Amino acid sequence: MNNCSLCPNFCKVDKAEKTGLCKTNGKIKIAKYYLHKFEEHIISGKNGSGTIFFCGCSLQCVFCQNYELSRNLRGKVISVNDLADIFKELEDLGASNINLVSPTHYSNKIVEALSIYKPNIPIVYNTHGYENLDVLKALDGFIDVYLPDIKFFSSSLSKRYTGKENYFEVASKAIEFMANKPIVFGDDGLLKKGTIVRHLVLPQCSFDSKKILDWFSTIKDKAYINIMSQYTPFGDIKDFPELNRKITRREYDSVIDYAISLKIEKAFYQDFESASEEYIPHWDY
Ligand code: SF4
Repeated sequence: MNNCSLCPNFCKVDKAEKTGLCKTNGKIKIAKYYLHKFEEHIISGKNGSGTIFFCGCSLQCVFCQNYELSRNLRGKVISVNDLADIFKELEDLGASNINLVSPTHYSNKIVEALSIYKPNIPIVYNTHGYENLDVLKALDGFIDVYLPDIKFFSSSLSKRYTGKENYFEVASKAIEFMANKPIVFGDDGLLKKGTIVRHLVLPQCSFDSKKILDWFSTIKDKAYINIMSQYTPFGDIKDFPELNRKITRREYDSVIDYAISLKIEKAFYQDFESASEEYIPHWDY
């Protein structure tokens, strides 16, 4: 924390004194925790996934649907002990798992909280994929299920929307590491260990999505992929007119057809109608 390198931004700031590119200091800030029923069905189950939304983000996509917390830091500060109590509360409510959303820049604090209270349900690491591989390796013993995004293949696209030219290079290596976790299902049909990679198809980006599928096909036996259609114009996109629309059915279908042609069988597809602001949670703090 004196020299923060928790993510590939390597800000090297002392987070007790300064914020890094993730916009956070050494304190944990969250916007909401609850039983979330709209993750993949093998994650949410009947009761819902015990989801905790952390504030700040080390990637800062311009189109983030959670921009109020990722960019504007809307939320409340909690202690490590509070976080451990939240794990217990969600478990007592019957959560299928503990789902840590945007955990990267708090990973050291999360390990501290898990050392205070380790729930008897899977721990899910729900990330944008831009991860420091050394940190991931250190965390791996605490994590049961990985839910990483893979957002862009092209470096010009990732630079345009996040400022990071090396997104694919970094995220693909991180996800290839995650996919080494063997897939394990429980008797209840829920994923207890393993990886689901998420890819959100963006407007005018079907070509990039297909490049991502070419890469994913190299790990297709070791992980699931969820090809998502739910992009909704949101966030700080006034300078990006191409992002100011939902994707078309034709764009989505062409990506799905390509996945089928690559014989990617561990795959989830979304209802095309999923593109709606109703799916964005209401923040508690
Ligand atoms: S976690 Fe935040 S402060 Fe640390 S390297 Fe990443 S962006 Fe910088």
